[in-house]
Amino acid sequence: MNSPPIVRFAPSPSGRIHIGNARTALLNWLFTRRNRGKFILRFDDTDFERSRAEYAESIEQDLAWLGVKPDCVRRQSHRMAFYDAAGEKLKSLGRLYPAYETPEELDRRRKRQQGLGRPPVYDRAALRLTEADRAALEAAGRKPHWRFRLDPGTVRWTDIVRGESQIDCGSLSDPVLRREDGTYLYTLPSVVDDIEFGVTHVIRGEDHVTNTAVQIQLFEALAGSVPEFGHHNLLTDASGEGLSKRTGALSIASLREKGVEPLAVAALAVLVGSAEAVRPVASLDELAGLVDLAGLSRGAARFDEAELDALSARTLHAAPYAAVADRLAALGVAGPRAEAFWLAVRGNVAQLADVSEWRAVVEGDVAPVVLDRAYLDLAAKRLPEGDWDASTWGEWTKALRAETGRKGRDLYHPLRLALMGRESGPELAALLPLIGRARAMARLSAPSS
Ligand code: GLU
Repeated sequence: MNSPPIVRFAPSPSGRIHIGNARTALLNWLFTRRNRGKFILRFDDTDFERSRAEYAESIEQDLAWLGVKPDCVRRQSHRMAFYDAAGEKLKSLGRLYPAYETPEELDRRRKRQQGLGRPPVYDRAALRLTEADRAALEAAGRKPHWRFRLDPGTVRWTDIVRGESQIDCGSLSDPVLRREDGTYLYTLPSVVDDIEFGVTHVIRGEDHVTNTAVQIQLFEALAGSVPEFGHHNLLTDASGEGLSKRTGALSIASLREKGVEPLAVAALAVLVGSAEAVRPVASLDELAGLVDLAGLSRGAARFDEAELDALSARTLHAAPYAAVADRLAALGVAGPRAEAFWLAVRGNVAQLADVSEWRAVVEGDVAPVVLDRAYLDLAAKRLPEGDWDASTWGEWTKALRAETGRKGRDLYHPLRLALMGRESGPELAALLPLIGRARAMARLSAPSS
């Protein structure tokens, strides 16, 4: 790649983004990260009825939570003059023409064509209107919508994901670019912005493949050059259903609220349906090294929330302290012993918030379970003096084994129950120095429950 790539993620702010949108955002983000490029967040908010500022805000928050930090943010609603200018240029090239059919008329025509076994392609009747016809229609109160006159040939491109691709534009209707009320559909503004922002790679879902043929013709008409395109496979939910922004299912916000790890969401969002096995990663940089757009599979990929929960736990089990320090501090785990605490308990949490349970075991009120009074009394007497470290537990239990002849479960189990009030949990070698001598002594000496 010669110059650094410029990519964009272009959601319409008409709902919260879901995991499928996140897949698109992350594939773009990881692609530029790998190639030291630029990432633009573009809000496609020309649909004034459905777009909301709150959704734009929440999309930025959701992306930030995933670790995606745009180099700049643009809004199409602020850029209408550019779309108008492009429209004028297309008119002067004879590529944008007014059409007056109502939706009902178009529907009737489509049904007629289908009845005759023909493809329901717009018949370009509007191109045959005379000046006088148009004047009469407008005098009768009709307002035009505007269609892009497609070149009939086959459009070809080498898709970064799908390889050699082609669409026969002769089989497509001339797309409407501008509605009767003067608002724009997505097709033209997207191209105008991609040209103006110098976008080099358009990476998006494969639901846009047909748009690409139309948009390539628009790029050629307006700029004379065309970016690269990559269309990735789409995600479905675990039952195979497509995802929708409107239902809120698998929204990034809902996953965050549930307490899953953002890195696990990112890893699953991009690795599912790719050539790489789904696995925990330590950073987005590591993930960037695993993403190969050309290696994505062609079929839809299933996103399974149960798989996400497991991946989230595995992500935490391997997370270094630095990766979670800020969030631990927000949960009240900070200070000189915080790192040792995290390393002791990370293998025993499914979610970060579970540290609270282990924090209580270390420094809260534990209800010791007393299995064998005499043994615990002896254990209390033999608690080592001095500073405790990771070897204390080993030395202590070795001494107890030598003195009592106990081993295995008989040796350890009563101690664990007394010290933690439960059977399972983190290694006591790591936890004991954090519990400290005074609390250990109190728990071993607790009255039988
Ligand atoms: N607003 C469009 C969408 O969300 C953008 C598609 C594109 O990336 O060009 O589907």
